[in-house]
Amino acid sequence: MINPEEFEITQKVPLQSVANSCPYFDASSGCSVQKVLEDLARARLQAEENEQKFQALFENALDGIMLLDCRTRRFLMPNQQMCRMLGYTAEEIEQLTLLDILPPSVHEAALKHFEQLAAGRPQQVSAQSIRRKDGQIFYADISAALFWLNGTSYAVGIFRDVTEKKHCQEEQARQQQELDAVFQAVPVGISHVQKRVFIRVNKIFCDFLGYSAEELIGRDTSCLYRSKEEFEQWGQSLYSRLQASGEVMEELTFRHKDGHFVDVLLRGVYLDPQDRSKGELFALTDITNRKRAERALQFTQFAVDHLTTPMYWLDSNLRIIRVNQAACRALGYTEEELLQMSILDIDPIYSREKADQVWAVMKQTESLRLESLHKTKDGRIFPVEIVSSYLNYDGQEYHCAFAQDISERKAAENAREKLLRELRTKNEELESIVFVASHDLRGPLVNIEGFAGEIRRTLEEINTLLQGAPLPADISDRLQTLLNKDIRESLQFISAGTAKMDSLLSGLLRLSRVGTIPFRIEPLRMNSLLQLVLGTMRYETRRLGARIHIEPLPDCLGDAVQVNQIFSNLIDNALKYRHPQEPLQIWISGRTEGKEVIYTIRDNGIGIAQEHHEKIFEIFHRLYPDGPQKGEGLGLTIVRRILDRLDGRIWVESEPGAGASFFVALPVVR
Ligand code: ADP
Repeated sequence: MINPEEFEITQKVPLQSVANSCPYFDASSGCSVQKVLEDLARARLQAEENEQKFQALFENALDGIMLLDCRTRRFLMPNQQMCRMLGYTAEEIEQLTLLDILPPSVHEAALKHFEQLAAGRPQQVSAQSIRRKDGQIFYADISAALFWLNGTSYAVGIFRDVTEKKHCQEEQARQQQELDAVFQAVPVGISHVQKRVFIRVNKIFCDFLGYSAEELIGRDTSCLYRSKEEFEQWGQSLYSRLQASGEVMEELTFRHKDGHFVDVLLRGVYLDPQDRSKGELFALTDITNRKRAERALQFTQFAVDHLTTPMYWLDSNLRIIRVNQAACRALGYTEEELLQMSILDIDPIYSREKADQVWAVMKQTESLRLESLHKTKDGRIFPVEIVSSYLNYDGQEYHCAFAQDISERKAAENAREKLLRELRTKNEELESIVFVASHDLRGPLVNIEGFAGEIRRTLEEINTLLQGAPLPADISDRLQTLLNKDIRESLQFISAGTAKMDSLLSGLLRLSRVGTIPFRIEPLRMNSLLQLVLGTMRYETRRLGARIHIEPLPDCLGDAVQVNQIFSNLIDNALKYRHPQEPLQIWISGRTEGKEVIYTIRDNGIGIAQEHHEKIFEIFHRLYPDGPQKGEGLGLTIVRRILDRLDGRIWVESEPGAGASFFVALPVVR
């Protein structure tokens, strides 16, 4: 290749003189030298023209271009665009080395690229950060390649400013990040769906339906529906509405992964309304609790409406704001009429002052039970028992009242009161009759016993007189039989009868006293009391070899003397009605049940047949009147009588031959 620089030929030098001085000049063929010279001149012009074109291209290029001397790493020949990008003049740039235009953070990477380049491998670097003269950073895609000139290696670098593109990309990435954060942070489940297949889901969506994101993504949405049919049916309905209006909102029931159903509010929109092929976004809110509350409310509403007890809601001005059908029926008003009224219109003895007191109590206790009267539309007044509850809702006070018609109960209570009064009078009468009878009958009994004694003494006297009397043998035998057998036997019957009568009368007297003697009700230390009872029976228990087991006993309320009597009678019976073969054992225990203390006296005696369990508490009732055990059939009657007065109870559980358990219930100590 001919370098025009090496041939300093100008138009001003005459061709002939060049020809003369040239050793190759041939005068005979002068015309061919002439041609060479002309070609050279043409080539030179062509080269100049090319250089101008190249220069114009170089300077007007939109990319920055400059060379780098690989040996010195200094820049050369920056074009105008390069100067603009870097903010330096061309002269200044030619003073700079490679690292001068790069921020320190990228030096290491840049040197690696440079090494590669120097080894002959062209380099492409995207979005390389470059520092301008004023310190600002811009980004450029750089293409660099190596070439040799006169034994020196140069790199030519083309710089395309991509700062704006990079900022756009960064902004896009930031927006994407923000979107991702929002996607995950919103308190609703979100899914991106394309052709009914999950593309993306957030954590709430997954958690709510029990799936992981991996399980859902790529899967069709049918897994959320209760059935294939529902999936098809809802799919059609949802998508047709979405197409029509661009958004859709629906309450649905979805199936959780574990099979249970969850209520959801689903809102769907197109991800990009301009390009519907990008799919849909569905936001899902858990409305299970709301649905449950709505259902509960409906049930409550149903219950209230069908309740047979009238119900009223009042506001703080005592206005009726809600009633049920039972209230309308009870008062004979329509619902509309009642909603125009105040509670004072239907309760003739209620007043604003009383209402203030009731509300004050209700605020403390939340609910209250009271009795009042209600008046029907036709003027009939009837007693009601009201159970009121207080409610403060949204700062407003309300009062909910259930008013039960207690006419029948009141009538029954009155009748019961009357009966009780009569019973009390009759009891008192009976007690005085028993007292008078037992007291007054004792006189004649004493007379009978006295005269029987008189007859016995007379008999002795007759016997003495007859001993010396000369009487025929048959008469003497007859008299002996009459006096010493028949009359004596009759006298014995009279004595046994009067003794029995006497013990019955004293028993009756004791029974009548139970109803009249004053009781002193106090807390009783039952363990001590039992020790006292057993102390007085020690001789008998030892004699019979009885083993008595007493557990720690709870205290109760009662009269010490009377409770002592109860336990004495029961233990005495356990001793009396012991098993003839079994060694006698008695167990005494107690427990508290609600408002009562229940004591148990259990023995391993002869037991009592079921049909006598109630009868044994009746007066004079004995299972074995002619048995070896002495008694009047009054002990248990007295026990029950005492317990009646102490607000207590007694009952028995037993079977013949299997012992008996007597249960005594007495009021607990409060
Ligand atoms: P009494 O002992 O004077 O006959 P009670 O009124 O005390 O009168 O008892 C009534 C009846 O109940 C007794 O005659 C007896 O038949 C039966 N009875 C009472 N306690 C027991 C007991 N622990 N075991 C078996 N029978 C009993």
